[in-house]
Amino acid sequence: MSDMHNLLNKAYETNDLTKVEIMYLLENITHEDRAVLYSYALKTKKAYYGDKVYLRGLIEFSNFCRQDCLYCGIRASNVNVERYRLTPEEILDCCDQGYKLGYRTFVLQSGEDLWYTDEILVALIQEIRKRYPEVAITLSIGERRAETYQSLFASGADRFLMRHETASKELYERLHPTMRFEDRRACLSALKAIGYQVGAGFMVGLPGQTPADLAEDLRYLKNLRPDMIGIGPFIPHSQTPLGTEKGGTLDDTLVMVALARLLIPDSLIPSTTALGTLHPQGRELALRAGANVVMPIITPTSVRKQYALYENKICGDDQPEDCRYCIERRIQSAGFEADLGRGDSYRSSSLED
Ligand code: SAM
Repeated sequence: MSDMHNLLNKAYETNDLTKVEIMYLLENITHEDRAVLYSYALKTKKAYYGDKVYLRGLIEFSNFCRQDCLYCGIRASNVNVERYRLTPEEILDCCDQGYKLGYRTFVLQSGEDLWYTDEILVALIQEIRKRYPEVAITLSIGERRAETYQSLFASGADRFLMRHETASKELYERLHPTMRFEDRRACLSALKAIGYQVGAGFMVGLPGQTPADLAEDLRYLKNLRPDMIGIGPFIPHSQTPLGTEKGGTLDDTLVMVALARLLIPDSLIPSTTALGTLHPQGRELALRAGANVVMPIITPTSVRKQYALYENKICGDDQPEDCRYCIERRIQSAGFEADLGRGDSYRSSSLED
């Protein structure tokens, strides 16, 4: 058997690879090897989650951001962005609409917008929890104080998504002039310690990113053991300093999704909107390479296009109901079954049993 086949088998059988092994795999993988990798990732996903793909309703509630990430279209210094901020009542209307469409997980995502004080967020989460005791409330609002995370958890939030973006300190610091590598990691550790189901993750194809960096991303995730893992291609936005860089590719991103499935087999892995933007079948291909979550957008159509992290983002004109049915069709066409339930991670649901 070739070295590559030995490595792919090892990943499948043991759910572990060293950093050097991952680098070898990334540097030498062929088209045929990729097919083997994806089939192992698919088998692994099925062993933990069967044919289910979980749907989450994504509400992008503000595009104001105090940070200045070099890659991001809503970075603070992009003066061309038309900024918007949904009021708590508007966010609750989105939840009402999402609930009627059948969603039982809401993901509240925004730029880092301190207009939403602890008091505003606590009251909002309490109200969502009161209206819908059974839903999962997921936050993706960036860096805050540990005390804030604690009070949001106490008021009813259950999950938190915060990509670590890249496990290379040097690359992280180059891309995030207003942020510190250690702070991001400290936030993730604090969120985990508080008891949130935590989602970390990274972008693929960042300028200057090496196979060693990507291998380190997977090793970091393996050690952190997050419940959720978000992996998407970097897509350049012309109004950012990285506007003329090359973006991440479909194949490279699918390889990282499949490896994440093999190394952290019980995690929830979204098939990202960014992959759907890169390729018309990108999300279906990710589902066949180990992803098992899709996050249809339920942000009001009136502001959707303003949440442009990158350009040509799909679904800009769709109504929330269009998104739900379009996604369900895609999930079925990829050979899976859409599940609108809370969709807790395998680990947290087995802990509760
Ligand atoms: N502010 C929150 C945070 O920092 O976690 C959540 C919003 S942030 C815009 C969501 C994610 O978008 C980031 O974690 C980043 O990985 C991704 N993102 C931003 N710009 C992107 C780009 N140009 N291409 C692909 N993904 C991008």
